[in-house]
Amino acid sequence: MEQAINPAKIKAIRTHSICAGHRVHGHESKCAHLHGHNYKFEFHCTAGSLDNVGRVIDFSDIKEKLCMWLEENWDHRFLLWEKDPIAADLSDADSMGVVRMPFNPTAENMAKHVLEIVGPEQFAGTGVMLEKVVLHETDKCFVEVSRSL
Ligand SMILES: [Zn+2]
Repeated sequence: MEQAINPAKIKAIRTHSICAGHRVHGHESKCAHLHGHNYKFEFHCTAGSLDNVGRVIDFSDIKEKLCMWLEENWDHRFLLWEKDPIAADLSDADSMGVVRMPFNPTAENMAKHVLEIVGPEQFAGTGVMLEKVVLHETDKCFVEVSRSL
């Protein structure tokens, strides 16, 4: 007899893409320049059990909570570490367009922020957990940050 699937192992995954600029302060080569990416996020969600309908979470709820957070906070913005020496000047030039972050905006730090801060805030009280974030910076390069690693 086959073993039953543990519902905690079932994931609902939704992707969302945004455009954003950044520079990586302290980078040894071209990523130290002002530039941008078409970032693609993958949100991997789990719950202890499936709901009455048979879902981890409705895909539209992932959109409402996580995709919309990206749209409102990072899409078409320029992401800079608050300690980057150019952050103040660029922020003066376009205060709405520049997001000063408490971390250097590498793909790793961005994915970690979404996993550790945004996910728990957005899913508070729902029983759903953002278990992993995959962030594609280019077609070839991506990072993965997971609670279960
Ligand atoms: Zn970059």
